[in-house]
Amino acid sequence: PATATKSLPQPQDKLLGGLLSAAFEESSCQSRYKSSLYRKKSPFPLSPYLVQKLRKYEAYHKKCGPGTKRYRKAIGQLKAGRNADNAECKYVVWFPCNGLGNRMLTIASTFLYALISNRVLLMHVAAEQEGLFCEPFPGSSWVLPGDFPHNNPQGLHIGAPESYVNMLKNNVVRNDDPGSVSASSLPPYVYLHVEQFRLKLSDNIFCDEDQLILNKFNWMILKSDSYFAPALFMTPMYEKELEKMFPQKESVFHHLGRYLFHPTNKVWGIVSRYYEAYLARVDEKIGFQIRIFPEKPIKFENMYDQLTRCIREQRLLPELGTAEPANTTAEAGKVKAVLIASLYSGYYEKIRGMYYENPTKTGEIVAVYQPSHEEQQQYTSNEHNQKALAEIYLLSYCDKIAMSAWSTFGYVAYSFAGVKPWILLRPDWDKERSEVACVRSTSVEPCLHSPPILSCRAKKEVDAATVKPYVRHCEDVGFGLKLF
Ligand code: GDP
Repeated sequence: PATATKSLPQPQDKLLGGLLSAAFEESSCQSRYKSSLYRKKSPFPLSPYLVQKLRKYEAYHKKCGPGTKRYRKAIGQLKAGRNADNAECKYVVWFPCNGLGNRMLTIASTFLYALISNRVLLMHVAAEQEGLFCEPFPGSSWVLPGDFPHNNPQGLHIGAPESYVNMLKNNVVRNDDPGSVSASSLPPYVYLHVEQFRLKLSDNIFCDEDQLILNKFNWMILKSDSYFAPALFMTPMYEKELEKMFPQKESVFHHLGRYLFHPTNKVWGIVSRYYEAYLARVDEKIGFQIRIFPEKPIKFENMYDQLTRCIREQRLLPELGTAEPANTTAEAGKVKAVLIASLYSGYYEKIRGMYYENPTKTGEIVAVYQPSHEEQQQYTSNEHNQKALAEIYLLSYCDKIAMSAWSTFGYVAYSFAGVKPWILLRPDWDKERSEVACVRSTSVEPCLHSPPILSCRAKKEVDAATVKPYVRHCEDVGFGLKLF
């Protein structure tokens, strides 16, 4: 029948308007095709230029990736301690740092960097991250092979002599005349430490003269805990190219995230079972993500009070009534599902209890769910990460999202969704409660918590938000920056 045909996804939609490559076997990674069916269509059109760039990248990755003759040659050079002139393939090797949300933000930033600096992205996959994501590039792999010679994460820290900033300090490289530096005069690899060290990304990285030198290294190892994509936009030599790839800058992570991250069939099983059981047939889905950070503990009562203030002020859930309403309002009988992501069960218990014990004024039904409550954050547990990933995805299917300030877990979820969240602000350092319960984000981009120094060698503080028309300060992290 006509209606049934109409609801079938069109092939073009399946590949998200050309964002995804058509070269994959569908059954190997079901989430790639099915996840978008749980969401509304993306509000951000894709630029054909980005699509072209992705297809070119895929061909490059296939040509230079693990298992190829060119890869063996490049590894051979690295092992021999040489940085060859005119190398055909260049690589950036990503190393993990912090939890899953941070990792997804840095993988996407590193991929964007790979795209604009013409490098192949490879990932050091630690045991806790195995089996979470499908391969994103057809006919190849993004997993760093075990024979990589500099495989020890312990050696990657701010003081490492291979770090670019330390190479500059120690006069191993100079950045005053990049044109005169030949690749073969450089060490065999460079380490780029992009950490929000004292909440300021290292200087001497997002500057033209430094990028010109960095681009001469055939191997780069990168470790970061930050969504540094906005810093790439602020690097003058990349500004134009990025503008062409993302005419709507608010959609950077939204598109790159949907391109790169596809839960494996195992994790997709968790996501789709839960979605079909509790969320598929409701009228509206509202996600609450409550994250308590060890460095800024907030008492349960205070956080719960802030959440309910936000719900009330922003009218996120139906008001409670005193008596069962007559079944006459337009809303009566509609079901709103509340999905709670939190390490603790308290918020779920109280909100569920509230709607269990009291009617709503409109006769709407509120169903409250929480997939897991792990109690403790466990960076190194694979099963724990599977659940975390599943919950990021489940949150990303919500129509409305309220999330804890500062949380990269929440950033990933709303950015996938393409939904501007309400952010539950963090109390000031000397306060236990936040006066303002929540504010609406002005962008679906994640926040870069720690901007770089804009003026590069001039070393004077310039507020990027006042000079770059495409970044503004984040609602939750005053000195942070986000694209919009
Ligand atoms: P952030 O610390 O909030 O920026 O987010 P991260 O994802 O980087 O690190 C937090 C980690 O704690 C997650 O990756 C999970 O392992 C765990 N975690 C935090 N909140 C939740 C939650 O609501 N559900 C689950 N399953 N895990 C969580």
